[in-house]
Amino acid sequence: MVYKKADDLSNLTVRQLRARRRRLVKGLPDFEAVLRGSLVDQGRRCGKAGCRCARGELHGPYLYLAVGRGPAVSRLVYVPSSLEERVRSRVELTAAAEKALEEISAVNLELLRRRELG
Ligand SMILES: [Zn+2]
Repeated sequence: MVYKKADDLSNLTVRQLRARRRRLVKGLPDFEAVLRGSLVDQGRRCGKAGCRCARGELHGPYLYLAVGRGPAVSRLVYVPSSLEERVRSRVELTAAAEKALEEISAVNLELLRRRELG
């Protein structure tokens, strides 16, 4: 997929590459909103003896933000329902921004190959 994208870029003129880069930069969000992670719903055990959760009927599900890279280092941060909408939109914006940064970098790499980086 990445290779295909690079092939597409090689067909563009320097002017087109710069226009694409400008467009990508314009679409970047306010960086103060950046929030990286992925949202997961998870049930919980409360630990009280005799509670239904001890028999497998978990409480929740509750919303968590899974942060960190890879399952080994990921941890869960509870997302209160009052913040769910805000967290959701920020996580989506951040994922889109990271994709845009990759594309901007690919454009700059192509410009570098042509000695047109500027
Ligand atoms: Zn319980």
